[in-house]
Amino acid sequence: MKISVNQPQRYAKMRAHTATHLLHAALGKILGQTKQEGSLVDEDYLRFDFATKESLSIDQITEIEDIINDQIVQALPISVQEMSLEDAKQTGAKMFFGDKYGAVVRVVTIGDGFSTELCGGTHVTNTREIGAFVIIGQEAVASGVKRITAYTGPKVATYAQEKQHMIDATMKEVGVVSESQLLPKIQKILTEQKEQASVIESLKAKLVGGVLQTIDLTPNGVFDSIIATDDYPDLQWLSIKTIATEARAIFSDKTILLYDTEGTFALLALGNVSAKDIARDLWMKGWWSDELVQWRDADIISKIS
Ligand SMILES: [Zn+2]
Repeated sequence: MKISVNQPQRYAKMRAHTATHLLHAALGKILGQTKQEGSLVDEDYLRFDFATKESLSIDQITEIEDIINDQIVQALPISVQEMSLEDAKQTGAKMFFGDKYGAVVRVVTIGDGFSTELCGGTHVTNTREIGAFVIIGQEAVASGVKRITAYTGPKVATYAQEKQHMIDATMKEVGVVSESQLLPKIQKILTEQKEQASVIESLKAKLVGGVLQTIDLTPNGVFDSIIATDDYPDLQWLSIKTIATEARAIFSDKTILLYDTEGTFALLALGNVSAKDIARDLWMKGWWSDELVQWRDADIISKIS
């Protein structure tokens, strides 16, 4: 009787597993010694954790992908040999020193020894079967431990298609017809956005200035005037900070209190009024909130303005 196993899924895992060995070897070539901290093999998907202080640069990632894809197109055979642990050590096979091995171990060799590891897992018989390899991410999983995530086989093509669709959609959105125009166009949009933001800021200041000039100051307690910004529709969409900055220039010698519906206050110019007088006045008006109670003298000036 034949045992039914899900062949396509099993094969996809084998591709990812052999690619993990290639990745381990390629990392060693790029970084010197690499200590594996863990790995996960799934269908055309793999994760490989290794000890390193620094992240891989984009150039290093590209180099690793190139090395692995080169091993794939070279169609290298994968051989599995059972031997004594002592003999395995002689081959220089990668092994985990924390792991316990039996007297007889399995040594998996790719090509002429590009990769030699002790491993009990199943592999493809030739690197060509992996199809292709791409690193899709790098992240830190612990202090000094980085994780590389990669795809193999048909997933590499799907990944490339998804990237292309994203680029196409972005090109359409920003109105360019070739990929080479994409980055310059985005940079142009960002520059324009900065310019517009500074124009908006100066327009806001002008608008605030215009509105504040029309306000009739009505003395109220120690204040030359108390202005609720919400009484002026044109001011309502501006932050109290923007209003206060402009108001300070216009009412430079006055003691004015600005406030909005959210209870944000801004004190403009102190004139000859002391902080204590302001605090007392606010208390008399019933505006001496719990927060205000904790303030004293200089704090009132610094926090309220
Ligand atoms: Zn393995």
